[in-house]
Amino acid sequence: SYDSLTGRTAVVTGAASGMGEATARLLASHGVRVALLARRAERLAELATAIEADGGQALAVAADVTDQAAVDAAVERVHTAYGRVDLVVNAAGVMLPNPVTEGRVDEWQRMLDTNVAGALRVIRAFTPDLIAAAEAGGTADLVNISSIGAHIPFPHYAVYGATKAALTYLSQSLRTELGPRDVRVTNIEPGLTDTELGSHIDNAELSGQLAGMFDALTGLSADEIADLVAFTTSRARHVNLRQVVVLPTRQA
Ligand code: NDP
Repeated sequence: SYDSLTGRTAVVTGAASGMGEATARLLASHGVRVALLARRAERLAELATAIEADGGQALAVAADVTDQAAVDAAVERVHTAYGRVDLVVNAAGVMLPNPVTEGRVDEWQRMLDTNVAGALRVIRAFTPDLIAAAEAGGTADLVNISSIGAHIPFPHYAVYGATKAALTYLSQSLRTELGPRDVRVTNIEPGLTDTELGSHIDNAELSGQLAGMFDALTGLSADEIADLVAFTTSRARHVNLRQVVVLPTRQA
């Protein structure tokens, strides 16, 4: 059961849609206060309203994780409203595939800045909270949403895959630093999941290819990923599911 989550305080990035949104909803439904981070303020406000209408507690905090000043301001808002955080979910991410030979430096920079440096900014911001929560005897979790792309090369997804490989490596390295301090680090690597992630692809052939994959196999839902976040973070505090690879059954 997820009952042990009740009373915890979470920050969920990427909460405007997809896995982040689903995770925020599920955690809130189990009595977690959730701070919702992403760029689209209106989406976050709607989600916060919906969560509160269902009896939960949520705080919409519009912030771009590539902007250090915005992250600093977000931390201040979260602390003022909720105090210390004990559960951090890094779901913010962008996937912009193209052949490396196209040399789309703009896309590389966005992916590196969001998927790697953005996650790091959020980790830097809230790790002191996680350590303090664990020192106080509570349960503390950092959950990073990486991707199966961290391990399996896929044509034209080289830079995206590299950002996810970096995030997976970061999760595993951070465990060596935070595990001894009773802070869990969980790295989740989903396969094809039905969200808005593919909607920013500007290469028609690759958009079509992604649509074809959804036709060929039953993709995971964002709710199914949220369920894994709730599962891993609700175990006894000495139990750390450090790596979860979850694929649609038909995905090779
Ligand atoms: P979505 O596009 O639905 O969600 C991504 C979220 O990240 C959005 O809410 C977006 O909100 C937010 N975001 C993007 N850039 C920034 C930024 N600079 N600052 C703050 N928030 C940002 O896709 P998913 O739910 O699929 O993605 C969640 C994570 O899962 C990503 O890290 C993705 O790489 C990973 N993943 C997805 C898979 C899939 O098949 N869908 C498979 C494996 C991993 P906003 O635009 O308002 O900022």
